Amino acid sequence: MNRAMPVFLDRDGVINRNLADYVRSLNDWIPLPGSIEAIVNLSNAGHPVIVVTNQSAISRKYCLESDVMEIHQHLIQLVDEAGGKIDGLYYCPHHPDDACDCRKPKTGMLDTARKDLNLPPGGYLVGDASSDMEMGRRAGLKTILVLTGRGLNQLELIKMENHPAPWRVTEDLASAALIILEDSTV
Ligand SMILES: [Mg+2]
Ligand SMILES: [Zn+2]
Repeated sequence: MNRAMPVFLDRDGVINRNLADYVRSLNDWIPLPGSIEAIVNLSNAGHPVIVVTNQSAISRKYCLESDVMEIHQHLIQLVDEAGGKIDGLYYCPHHPDDACDCRKPKTGMLDTARKDLNLPPGGYLVGDASSDMEMGRRAGLKTILVLTGRGLNQLELIKMENHPAPWRVTEDLASAALIILEDSTV
């Protein structure tokens, strides 16, 4: 019975539109169709929903940490107004060269979330990138690659580089949520 299994979500390319040039402000942040509703459905089914996102735009000085926090407040509010809940939201502000413990594919954000929220091991990871899948794998999560955002290109990359296939590949967060809901009520 996986009913209360946590669901970890990547942000850019999963919940909102990915931008090649980084999502830098609230103006850049455009939710993908059905993504807020999908989060609400997961949340209402009892799944803790946690967002884990690399935001190196902060260390690259493309935006301020306060811009990222403004986006996250907005996301939390949208989900709240739609009747759901985001249980946790974690971002890595570091540059790839910083060798921090939180930048995906490292599992630091997942480890922190588990401690903060007292989550059971296991659960699901929805992302649009190879690094999301790798983090999920390292943490023993069921990985779902969505084809929104960078998903289509990243799926090719995963195949080309002979990485293990994701647990599931699906169209978008809405269909990923359906897969999770079905899997966790069997
Ligand atoms: Mg992404
Ligand atoms: Zn980091």
